[in-house]
Amino acid sequence: MSEQTEKELIKNDILGKVLFSSSDIKDRISELGKEITQDYKYKNLLLVSILRGGVIFLSDLIKEIDLPLSIDFMSISAYGINGTSTGVVRITKDLDESIEGKDVLIAEDIIDTGLTISYLLRNLKSRFPNSLEICTLLDRDIRRIADINIKYIGFKIGEKYIVGYGLDYKQKFRNLQSIYELKLDTVKKDIEFLKSSSNV
Ligand code: 5GP
Repeated sequence: MSEQTEKELIKNDILGKVLFSSSDIKDRISELGKEITQDYKYKNLLLVSILRGGVIFLSDLIKEIDLPLSIDFMSISAYGINGTSTGVVRITKDLDESIEGKDVLIAEDIIDTGLTISYLLRNLKSRFPNSLEICTLLDRDIRRIADINIKYIGFKIGEKYIVGYGLDYKQKFRNLQSIYELKLDTVKKDIEFLKSSSNV
């Protein structure tokens, strides 16, 4: 989306303040890419992205990793109650390849309660990868319920619901270049609805 359109959405009270600009995101992803390049030398690296939100992050991240690697995708539906995910997850599209013996790195857009990723970790662990780690662009650790270990974190964030750079509101706003707070007063009712029946 153009900067001009993003400015209009702010003017119309739909988007709040910019949390991370596209250049903040670019710089941080470049650092993450360097760390991953260092850590995964001589490994059999497979990056897994969870559709749909994680795709934009994955596509920028892999360009910053200076190693041979492969990518694969999963799609899931997560069910929630009163704005909190329950960890009840259905796989709607599974990986295309076996992960046995591979060094799997899940590239996630955001980890909130951690219940969704915790289900995925259990599921993927049972497929005998050589290693299994998480790289998340955003970490809302103040709402964490599941006990998970995240190897790479882009940014830590607070409570506010955010959109952009892959993150949606009712499947919209994924194509914003920066990450914004969504104006709760404009769309609060809809967010409660969205969170309680979220399609991740
Ligand atoms: P968890 O199981 O960690 O609570 O849920 C993580 C999922 O909830 C994310 O993959 C994302 O789809 C959704 N989510 C949590 N917080 C936000 C947010 O602030 N904005 C958006 N757009 N999605 C969110």
